[in-house]
Amino acid sequence: MARADYRLCDKCGRKAFYDATLDYDFRTYPDTGLRNLGDWTVLCRECAAQFKCLIVKRTVDLHEVERLLQRGEIFQALAIIQRVTGAKESAEGRSGDDDRR
Ligand SMILES: [Zn+2]
Repeated sequence: MARADYRLCDKCGRKAFYDATLDYDFRTYPDTGLRNLGDWTVLCRECAAQFKCLIVKRTVDLHEVERLLQRGEIFQALAIIQRVTGAKESAEGRSGDDDRR
């Protein structure tokens, strides 16, 4: 099947899943082409073994977070995300209150 018939992995560009049957309409929904789909990221199985998708509020300065992570300043990067999202999960993996309650 043609490469254009597939949604490609956003990390490596390999075929992730067959999407030729999805009813894309980029004239009406120019951002994703799909009604009620605001945003998405796709990882193939190989990339998902090492990476995962992360949902953050649009107000997070991802460039600043990336700079901090590149310098190994993980806790400062997490602090930015937690401040903007209101997440209270600590870097040690303990979870606190969240919006799902
Ligand atoms: Zn991939």
